[in-house]
Amino acid sequence: MSAADTITTRLAAVRDALPEGVKLIAVSKFHPVEAVHEAYDAGQRRFGESHVQELTTKAAALPSDIEWHFIGHLQTNKVKQLVPTVTMIHAVDSLRLLREIDRQAARIGRQSVDCLLEVHIAEEATKYGFSPQDLIDMLDEGAWRAMEHVRLCGLMCMATNTDDSSRIAADFEAVRRLMAEVKARFFARDDAFHELSMGMSHDYLTACAHGTTMVRVGTSIFGERVY
Ligand SMILES: *Cc1c(COP(=O)(O)O)cnc(C)c1O
Repeated sequence: MSAADTITTRLAAVRDALPEGVKLIAVSKFHPVEAVHEAYDAGQRRFGESHVQELTTKAAALPSDIEWHFIGHLQTNKVKQLVPTVTMIHAVDSLRLLREIDRQAARIGRQSVDCLLEVHIAEEATKYGFSPQDLIDMLDEGAWRAMEHVRLCGLMCMATNTDDSSRIAADFEAVRRLMAEVKARFFARDDAFHELSMGMSHDYLTACAHGTTMVRVGTSIFGERVY
């Protein structure tokens, strides 16, 4: 990444690298509104944030045809603030959270909020998400079927944080297989359930090789974050 690169040129490079049909979520967390605007002017419309306050503040300051994707860990008590603005919530990791999204969407008369279920596949013990077995058990139990104001659209994961590309590829492949199983068992007749959100700056090309439909790329577009 040379100093002469701009958000516009880096965005174009990432877009050019993506296979047809893979959606790019430009992760703008910790970058200013001006940076988002530059990407917007270059045609980008899907942005990802991981803090509720930051997402709602940026959404208020930027054009209304932006799709805002919430990609971070979401606390139940922040759902109310997020639901009016968000397009998709990527990291739903409990039935309790799903229920609260449903409840808050109903409360404001929003027909439904698109959600992905987060799968814990990485080696790290601290990551959020359903284990593959817990995911199947939750879907099997069936309480989600009564939630009319959430629309389950697929799965999300983070690969193990490692330089070992074979380990990363194995994680993505495991989630691709899980997706096929879950789709066949619970969503065979539900066209909405088809998204796989996996891949970040360092591993999005690997994710593309393993069937991802949405990549969440921040650093490769906006540069390093200053926390
Ligand atoms: C920050 C973040 C990203 C983007 O990471 P980069 O390495 O900057 O591309 C993707 N997914 C999640 C869940 C994130 O929190």
